[in-house]
Amino acid sequence: MVQKKDFRAINTLLMSNPLSDRINNLATSQTLAMAALARELKAQGKDIISLSLGEPDFNTPDFIKEAAKKAIDENYSTYSPVDGYAELKDAICRKFKRDNGLDYKPSQIVVSTGAKQSLYNIAQVMLNDGDEVILPAPYWVSYFEIVKLSGGVPVEVPTSVETDFKITPEQLEAAITPKTKMMWFSSPCNPSGSVYSREELTALGKVLEKYPNIYIVADEIYEHINFSGTFCSIASIPGLFDRTITVNGVAKAFAMTGYRIGYIGAPEFIAKACTKIQGQVTSGANSIAQRATITAVDADPSVLNHMVKAFHSRRDLVVGLLKEIPGIKINVPEGAFYVFPDVSSFFGKTLKGTEIKDANDVSMYLLAEANVATVTGDAFGNPNCIRFSYATSDELLKEALKRIKDALAG
Ligand code: PMP
Ligand code: GLU
Repeated sequence: MVQKKDFRAINTLLMSNPLSDRINNLATSQTLAMAALARELKAQGKDIISLSLGEPDFNTPDFIKEAAKKAIDENYSTYSPVDGYAELKDAICRKFKRDNGLDYKPSQIVVSTGAKQSLYNIAQVMLNDGDEVILPAPYWVSYFEIVKLSGGVPVEVPTSVETDFKITPEQLEAAITPKTKMMWFSSPCNPSGSVYSREELTALGKVLEKYPNIYIVADEIYEHINFSGTFCSIASIPGLFDRTITVNGVAKAFAMTGYRIGYIGAPEFIAKACTKIQGQVTSGANSIAQRATITAVDADPSVLNHMVKAFHSRRDLVVGLLKEIPGIKINVPEGAFYVFPDVSSFFGKTLKGTEIKDANDVSMYLLAEANVATVTGDAFGNPNCIRFSYATSDELLKEALKRIKDALAG
C-alpha cells in the first residue's frame, strides 16, 4: 500500500524540477551564452575580445533614429495591427519587389519581434509532432531548437569546408522522406558566410519540384551583407514562390538588433496563421520600432555601403590572418560577418597542457588561453569548426588573431 510519506517523497521529487519537459529539453542559445560568459569575464577585469555574438558594431543610421524619435513625438504609443502597420507592410512589399523581384501583397506580410520570432511563428504554425525539417548544416543555432520546441524533427544534412559548406541537389534528395515537411536555410549563411547562387538554387529547386508538399524557409537577414555581387531569393525560382516563406529583418544590415523587428513574405494562409499566433502571444511588434523600420526598408540599400565595405575589408583581413595559422582550414565567406574555420586538425593534440578533444575544447581553450570568445561549431551542426564574428574593429581583430595564432602554436 502506498504510504502518505511516499506521496510526499514523489511530490518533493517533482517540485525539485517543476519546469516543463518542453523547456527541460531545450538547449540554451550558445551564441547568447558565450556572449554572456565573455561579458562576465570582462566585468571581472579580464581582457576579453568577444568574437562570439553576431551583432554589427555600427550605430543605427541617423535617418532611422530620427524616424524613431518622430514616431514617439507623433504618439505611436498604442497597439499596432497584430501583423504590423499597413504603411510598414506596404514598404516591405516595395522592398521585396525592388531587391528581390518578388510580388508579395500586404496580406502576405507579417511583422514580428525580430526574425527570430518570425521563425518561431513559422515552426508553430507549420509543424506537427514528428514532421521532419531538413537543415543543411551548418545552420543558424536557433533553427534546430525552434524546430524541436515545435514538435518537429530536425534532419541535418552535413557539408564541409571543402564544398564551401553548401548542400548539393543529391544530398537534398537523399534527405527527403515521406515525413519531410520543410527545409530551412540561410543565404548568406550564418555561420559559414556562404551565398547560394541562382544556379545552385535552381538545381535545388529541380529536386523540390518533385515534392510539392515541402515548404521552404529562406532566411535572408544577411541579404545586404553580401560581397559576391549577386543575390538570389529562392522564392524567385520558378515554381517555388507559393511554398516559400521568405524571412528578413532590419537587425543586421541596418544595425538595429535591439529594435527587434523581423518580417516574412509568405503564402497568405501561412501569414494569417502567423498573425493568429501573434494575436495570442505578443499582440504585435513594438510600435516605435515599426515606424522606424518603414524608413529603413524604404531607403535605397546604398545607404548601407559604408558598413558593407567595412565588413568586406574585415573579411579579407580575418581570412588572410587565419590562412597564416597552421592547421586551420577555411572557405572564403561571401557574405554575413562570420568565418567558420575547420579546426579538426587540433583534435587529439595537447596545447600548453590542455588536451583538445573537440571543437568545444578549442573554443574554451581560446577563451582561457587567448582571452578570445568564439562559438563552437557543434551549436551550428558542424563539430569540426568554430565560429568567429568579425563585426568588430580592425585593431581588435588583429589582436585577437595574433593571440589565437600564439595559443594554437601550443
Ligand atoms: N536568422 C539568422 C541567420 C540570424 O543570424 C539571426 C541573428 N540574430 C536571426 C535570424 C535573428 O534575427 P533577429 O535579431 O531579427 O531576431
Ligand atoms: N544572430 C546572432 C548570432 O548568431 C545573434 C545572437 C542570436 O540571436 O542568437 O550570433
